[in-house]
Amino acid sequence: MNGAEYERIRRKLSAMNRTSLGLGVPGIGLQLAGNAMHGVAGVVVSLLGIGLLIAGLSSYARMRGHSPWFAALGLLSCLGMLILALLPKNCFNCRAKIKGTVCATCGAPAPP
Ligand SMILES: [Zn+2]
Repeated sequence: MNGAEYERIRRKLSAMNRTSLGLGVPGIGLQLAGNAMHGVAGVVVSLLGIGLLIAGLSSYARMRGHSPWFAALGLLSCLGMLILALLPKNCFNCRAKIKGTVCATCGAPAPP
């Protein structure tokens, strides 16, 4: 893998990391706010939060070389996030298991 390709993947990974945080963090916030509220408004706010969290987790799962379907774990809220964080990382580029900061198979940077 050449330097330009490495840099392209590195940028893509950091953009996906920002996307997953940018959607997931407000998602959790809305879920907590919704749970503290009563009535229909609380349910609507909670559902909005779950939607944002799942969108964030799908970016996180893809960044770590997993299927975006893993984002469904967001339905379990904090427990699902923990499971997703503990799954072994795969290479974003070739999906090989990855250890350390660079993929041993294709030379791509490891996901954060
Ligand atoms: Zn690789």
